[in-house]
Amino acid sequence: MRWSGQTLDAADEGALPGLERSGLVRSVQTPEFEGITFHEVLCKSALNKISGDGPLPFSWTINPARGCSHACRYCFARPTHEYLDLDAGSDFDTQIIVKTNIAAVLRKELARKSWKHEPVALGTNTDPYQRAEGRYRLMPGIIRALAESGTPFSILTKGTLLRRDLPLLALAAQQVDVHINVSLAIHDADLQKQIEPGTPSPRARLDLIKAVRDAGFPCGVMVAPVIPFLTDGARQLDALFAALAEAGATSVTAMPMHLRSSTKDWFMSWLAEEHPALVRRYRQLYGHGAYVTPEYTAWLRGRIDPLLDRYGFGTGESRSMPANVPAAPGPAEQREPAPTLF
Ligand code: SF4
Repeated sequence: MRWSGQTLDAADEGALPGLERSGLVRSVQTPEFEGITFHEVLCKSALNKISGDGPLPFSWTINPARGCSHACRYCFARPTHEYLDLDAGSDFDTQIIVKTNIAAVLRKELARKSWKHEPVALGTNTDPYQRAEGRYRLMPGIIRALAESGTPFSILTKGTLLRRDLPLLALAAQQVDVHINVSLAIHDADLQKQIEPGTPSPRARLDLIKAVRDAGFPCGVMVAPVIPFLTDGARQLDALFAALAEAGATSVTAMPMHLRSSTKDWFMSWLAEEHPALVRRYRQLYGHGAYVTPEYTAWLRGRIDPLLDRYGFGTGESRSMPANVPAAPGPAEQREPAPTLF
């Protein structure tokens, strides 16, 4: 691996942002996390600046880990693993780089006079409440550092481990704006196990939404990505939206799946194996690009918008969005990809 020979003081000019002068401390495998290797590293920076004037309501992100054991087949962050000389397929799911000192580094960055307390987002690239968080407990330190510095922040997750931190988040919300969003796009548990094999079940995530609401927070839900011909059925979406309304979701954002570079290869190889009849339709839908056709986007919007109205999400922050919102990545974004809202 590119960074395996590093010493703690060595600079690696080609390293990922935040890891330029970081070192691999050790690699760990434990029986509780069968099949997963955690590579513990010391990072030199915690805050990532988002470039450009996009539509995002934040300009900074924090990623406590790289790679994600939630293992979603469609995950757009997969190509970032290739930069570490790991592959974007199973290595992304099982070789997890954990920035064990991230809370301490963050505290120093937030204490700088130049820090303007702009909103910070967690969960835009990899999930901060993936399984690694159960072992490393990085989020409590991050939450405290943000709140005590007066920095508003948002969290997007599929991880039910967030429940552990709800009391702390409620305290943080007394000091700064805290937004919590849950990602749930597949209502059928069998399909969810196929497509997002490392994630908590739909039922567990619906219970998480309820717990977030019971803790006094609004809870936005990302119905993203909607997966063409697999999760876009009228009955499937209706059942999902009904369940979200019942769980107490306060807003819903939906968007179709986009598939870029090695993520596309990983997803399509799974599709060919599990749903070969769909391969030709996907080739037509995605052509040679990363995004669905404008016709599909318009069709999906026509299906989602009435559901937003029917289940009371039709006002405020809820919306259906085209997948072709993010611009094609430039060289810097290939190292630390610009987050999408999903
Ligand atoms: S939870 Fe998010 S970051 Fe993790 S694999 Fe799924 S899409 Fe990627």
